[in-house]
Amino acid sequence: MTVVLRATIERTCVGCGRRREQEELVRFSGGPAGLRAYLERGEGRGAYLCPDAGCLERTVRRKALQRALGAELGPLSVQQLRESIQQAVLQKVQRLLGLARRAKRVVAGSRAVSRALQADRIRLLLLSRDIVPQGEKQFRVEAKRRGVAIVTLFSRDELGAPLGGPREVVGLLDGSFAHGILQAVRYWIP
Ligand SMILES: [Zn+2]
Repeated sequence: MTVVLRATIERTCVGCGRRREQEELVRFSGGPAGLRAYLERGEGRGAYLCPDAGCLERTVRRKALQRALGAELGPLSVQQLRESIQQAVLQKVQRLLGLARRAKRVVAGSRAVSRALQADRIRLLLLSRDIVPQGEKQFRVEAKRRGVAIVTLFSRDELGAPLGGPREVVGLLDGSFAHGILQAVRYWIP
């Protein structure tokens, strides 16, 4: 991946009113398809929110997104906003996994990932939410020993969609794909 230098743009969170760098905020757009969240810049009318549960609550209470994007959005819930953000994170991660697959910079499956981990080739480990506890423990111990970060937000189907089928364990062999995924999961609100 290339690093693009660009001017800092500040935006105001419609929840807390703080001005922050646009990269730290989630962008929401309305439109005929309903509410959608984006982790990246986009065209058209947008409203910005901190990836923070308190800001989601304030936004819903004050109907701030409806005010910013149009009343036709209708009633919104905190859960809806949270899911929109989670969806945006998932899509970004899946896009990066797909690119990593094409670049042959990803390994999947317990055995292959285990081997790559032993060989110090793994830069980031993705364990599915539904991995068997015994397998999870082994990977956690090994990753900790080697200082490899772990992400456990996605199901095996979500992890596997860009890789050709359900995957319990996925390892990134490339620092910039790993970095991209870690950047995306910063926006996740549990
Ligand atoms: Zn905020």
